[in-house]
Amino acid sequence: MSNLTTLNKATPLAYLDNNATTQVDAKVLEQMLPYLSEFYGNPSSIHQFGEQVGKAIEHARQQVQALIGASFSSEVIFTSCATEASATAIMSAIEAFPNRKEIITSVIEHPATLELCQNLERKGYTVHWIKVDARGRLDMEAYKQALSSEVAVASFMWANNETGSLFPIRGMAELAKQHGILFHTDAVQVAGKLPIQVADSGIDLLSISGHKFHAPKGVGALYLRRGAKFRPLLRGGHQERGRRAGTENSSGIVGLGKAAELAMQSIEQDSARIKMMRNRLEIGLLARIPHCFVTGDPRHRVPNTSNIAFEFVEGESILLMLDQHGIAASSGSACTSGSLEPSHVMRAMDIPYTAAHGAIRFSLSRFTSEEMIDQVLAVLPGIVEKLRMLSPYWDTASNQPAEQSFSPVYA
Ligand code: PLP
Repeated sequence: MSNLTTLNKATPLAYLDNNATTQVDAKVLEQMLPYLSEFYGNPSSIHQFGEQVGKAIEHARQQVQALIGASFSSEVIFTSCATEASATAIMSAIEAFPNRKEIITSVIEHPATLELCQNLERKGYTVHWIKVDARGRLDMEAYKQALSSEVAVASFMWANNETGSLFPIRGMAELAKQHGILFHTDAVQVAGKLPIQVADSGIDLLSISGHKFHAPKGVGALYLRRGAKFRPLLRGGHQERGRRAGTENSSGIVGLGKAAELAMQSIEQDSARIKMMRNRLEIGLLARIPHCFVTGDPRHRVPNTSNIAFEFVEGESILLMLDQHGIAASSGSACTSGSLEPSHVMRAMDIPYTAAHGAIRFSLSRFTSEEMIDQVLAVLPGIVEKLRMLSPYWDTASNQPAEQSFSPVYA
């Protein structure tokens, strides 16, 4: 990637990779700074230095409670990230129900869940990997069939990080409840984007991550429904009421609280504005570029995400050329055995090889401007055209996809 400082100052930077991480809001930073300087006490200490910080943490807990619509602030446990929150949720459930040796999850989870469940599978647990259809919609029949009293935990992402598609989490949680199964959702890509109301839902556990909604990196939270069985992952000190040992990241927690408050203040307006920009970008690209399509479930997704597969081009090449224009987006490809392979999400949806390779995710935030959208609309059609001229799957003479004498397949 280019060194940002070398970019032409006149070129506005278009950051459209907010599902990867977001800019810390200036108001969040302002709130945090005193907790990196004058308020340095350990919140567990009983003197004033500690007490001040302890109070700030409890305030942040209430702000996060409001964001996720929990009944009690004590249902919020601060963690170092969502990966830790999800690991805590899943490991807690299997420890709390030692006789239940099954787990249910989906094939399109974030690696935070996916790899943990794969590891548990290697250790002898039965994992029901629920598949999705071509639009990324969950096979609900398979989910219902997997539910039984043998299952310790069902863990599903609320919104997919690559496509933004939503699973029907509330209904799924209710079904799990009927079987006495703990239900965890990875709500990382939903928090701050859509209203969440965990109270009076069947959700027992929910993970969020600060850096996805304008708080800093290195702080997350786990919602734990009051009364749900729980075993801590990190044992040691009695922080977080004995549910997560380790001295609190007080400035990060204060930042997370402020970011939650800011998101709550304008979630409806921000989401509507972001969705309009996302749709303008998407409709504009589909109109200007032949042979591309939206992946995932366009009718059920978070308002900020658009994942478009540009057929017959390499996504990484698009990203590099966008970067030269100061535009940041991302692709789902991962380097596997020396070659770029489309992500597990694209594969799970059976997106054809020549399209999955060219899938690009644009993810917006409240700091996205109309100018950034214009910038992408202005440069991307030319980039795709140029790359297609170099593609073995493109016939330059007819400016059409080449007749394929072979069918490329996944490695
Ligand atoms: N779950 C989803 C859906 C994500 O998008 C991410 C981050 O990309 C995570 C979990 C992991 O979050 P964290 O970086 O806080 O561990």
